[in-house]
Amino acid sequence: MSLWGPCAIPILGATPHREVFPLLFFSLFLKKMTANRILALSSMTAAITPNGSARPLATIAKQGDNKLMPRSSVYSALILRTRASGESNRDAWMLTAEEGILRATVFGGPKSKLRSHAAPFHSGRVWIYHDPVRDTRKLSDFDVLSWRPGLRELYERAMTADAIAETILATHGGGGNWEAALALAEPALDALETANEEFCTRIFIQFLWRWAAFLGIQPQAEQCAHCGEQAQADAIMLYSSADNALCCAACVQAGAHDEIENAAGASSGFMQINPGCRRWLLTAAAHAPADMGRYTMDAKTLREAKLLTQALVAAALGRRPASWDW
Ligand SMILES: [Zn+2]
Repeated sequence: MSLWGPCAIPILGATPHREVFPLLFFSLFLKKMTANRILALSSMTAAITPNGSARPLATIAKQGDNKLMPRSSVYSALILRTRASGESNRDAWMLTAEEGILRATVFGGPKSKLRSHAAPFHSGRVWIYHDPVRDTRKLSDFDVLSWRPGLRELYERAMTADAIAETILATHGGGGNWEAALALAEPALDALETANEEFCTRIFIQFLWRWAAFLGIQPQAEQCAHCGEQAQADAIMLYSSADNALCCAACVQAGAHDEIENAAGASSGFMQINPGCRRWLLTAAAHAPADMGRYTMDAKTLREAKLLTQALVAAALGRRPASWDW
């Protein structure tokens, strides 16, 4: 408060100088920001020294242990989405390694440096000021380590990146292991930077397949979920959206499930998954997104793999995100 008090009085007494206000407020804002940054940095050093063990970078900036005191914390973050907030500010949603999905307000107009830094798919270290009374967060600084400019050079890259980001948001960052979530998302976005249209689709299919495993909903690709038999290498499997599982043709024909008895035919409740699709997904799961350029597939396999992976994640969400269609 002492920062504001002495300066505000003379200005209030001299109301005609209205143009002074923005400048004054801006310089005060800078002073406050710098102070927060110093506090955050000093607390970071303290967090590393006591017993030598690494603990999350998010730390209490202020002295004392009052839970209602505002605190500034530093995170490893990937910006997933930004939206206008009020007249000139923006809200940024990000995946952080320390606390999962966070939303923070970015103050400043279109020419603000911080605002240009806090754009989708940029990642690095962010400083966030948290007001526990209002439970609001403010982005106070951003050291961008990856800008990913290539994502803006091709429509398909931008749309695929957006689909990945919205999938992460819709599934609440995967629900716990945030570092692993970032380790899945960041290489996929890096690979997209140089991808052509088809490569983009493959990266998205691979991301959804791996994300399904991360969420614990990836079905066995080589084993029937009903009878437990290993699938023959050349066997066609059937995906049941009701069970979110792959079944062998024999089980489906025998009407082993209630839904199967009710189904008019395999086409109504089941999706046919050919051996080529299963092989591609198993191979893709074991490789980095950057390698997806080398793992080609024919149009039919691509379509099947896309439908299957989207059906898996949509079943977990109970809906199909609009960002998947472009
Ligand atoms: Zn079976």
